[in-house]
Amino acid sequence: MTTANQSLKPLTTKINENGHIEIGGCDLVQLAEKYGTPLYVFDEQTIRTMARQYKEAFKAYPKVSMLYASKAFMTKSVVRILDEEGFGFDVVSGGELYTAYKAGADLKKCLFNGNNKSYDELQMTVELGIGLISVDNFLELALLNDVAKSNNKKVDILLRVTPGIECHTHEYIQTGHLDSKFGFDLTQTDDAVELIQDEYKNLNLVGLHAHIGSQIFETSIYYDEVEVLLKEMSRIKDKFGIVMTHINLGGGLGIKYTENDCPPSVNEIAEKIISSVKENAPKYNMEEPEIHIEPGRSIIGTSGVTLYTVGSSKQVPKGKKYVAVDGGMADNPRPSLYQAVYTAEVANRPDDEPVETVTIAGRFCESGDILIKDIQMPELKEGDILCFYDTGAYGYSMSSNYNRVLKPAAVLVNNAQSDIIINRESYEHLVSLDVIPQRLEK
Ligand SMILES: *Cc1c(COP(=O)(O)O)cnc(C)c1O
Repeated sequence: MTTANQSLKPLTTKINENGHIEIGGCDLVQLAEKYGTPLYVFDEQTIRTMARQYKEAFKAYPKVSMLYASKAFMTKSVVRILDEEGFGFDVVSGGELYTAYKAGADLKKCLFNGNNKSYDELQMTVELGIGLISVDNFLELALLNDVAKSNNKKVDILLRVTPGIECHTHEYIQTGHLDSKFGFDLTQTDDAVELIQDEYKNLNLVGLHAHIGSQIFETSIYYDEVEVLLKEMSRIKDKFGIVMTHINLGGGLGIKYTENDCPPSVNEIAEKIISSVKENAPKYNMEEPEIHIEPGRSIIGTSGVTLYTVGSSKQVPKGKKYVAVDGGMADNPRPSLYQAVYTAEVANRPDDEPVETVTIAGRFCESGDILIKDIQMPELKEGDILCFYDTGAYGYSMSSNYNRVLKPAAVLVNNAQSDIIINRESYEHLVSLDVIPQRLEK
């Protein structure tokens, strides 16, 4: 069985009677006309299907909870959809927590995570009564204990650890190797546990948390991760008598960005995780734990596409041909940040044969603002609408106002209906936080 993360395009993508690409029953050319470009388009059916495939894949292990890693892409509507699908939320900032709260998420099912949470964020987390906090370092143990104490609460925590497992992904999105800024090294957990046991009486240690990296294609590392965590929990049980019941395995399942990518299905990783628990819990003399999974990219990535309008082009004499679009590194920094590779098609004439190799450039004032290097395309003309696939994760959520360009709108499509889920910024929004001190007034 295949799952949605293995599809290059949103599941509802087809070519319609106008000869245009259609997603969620909506003609992309019409969406571009109606809402303008650049435009993020999210297919509700793909999001819900992937969420259900996660739950289905872990059906054999009832003690599993799914938390959506909000940083991949979060708006109030995405929270509503995934809350309906039974997901909790992994949040990493006051802003993400506030979004979950405002959209009515069940905060008991949420977890706060991050390597440098502020006092105010911890305060907000404890006040709102979030289910779990993943504590990353010694400073945070002390701060959180203070906050919990002053609120007269005892809070459930996980310790974020670096399990020392390397995966083959881009260096910037590896997080589980030993030389990482995230979490306690396994040589530091004893000191942390001792502090919790002896001093931090307002913290209740319920488990361990790890996240190995992102865009992972190897399934065996999930097996290893479960084993490392169970082994560590068993060691802590023997040494301190503290029995932890939860393991949080983070996210990381990869998606298909190009025809060459072959990510595993969610069933394949579920199988590794469940078999590792079944084999390693008895081996390390532990009960079968509650498992938390935190997928981000694999839930939202495939569902999202970006539409751009083609503008100018430049043929370098005896060199490349550049075709520029009306967006780029500010609405999607992944190509310039991680050398991420995307696939695109011409939404208004997807059936036209490719005739040349071009480089799709962004509109921002950086030579590095290249969206796709060397892609085969029909001869592109001004006004063509390009559809970039798989931009749902870490695109809009990483967007900026570089060059004071307005952030794009995002729409949700389903059953031939399209609804705005994020308004396009206006010039008024853009200057709304600027202040001119009186002495500079004209
Ligand atoms: C980023 C992150 C995730 C989500 O990763 P994906 O690769 O998007 O699935 C999950 N857990 C933690 C702790 C993270 O930092």
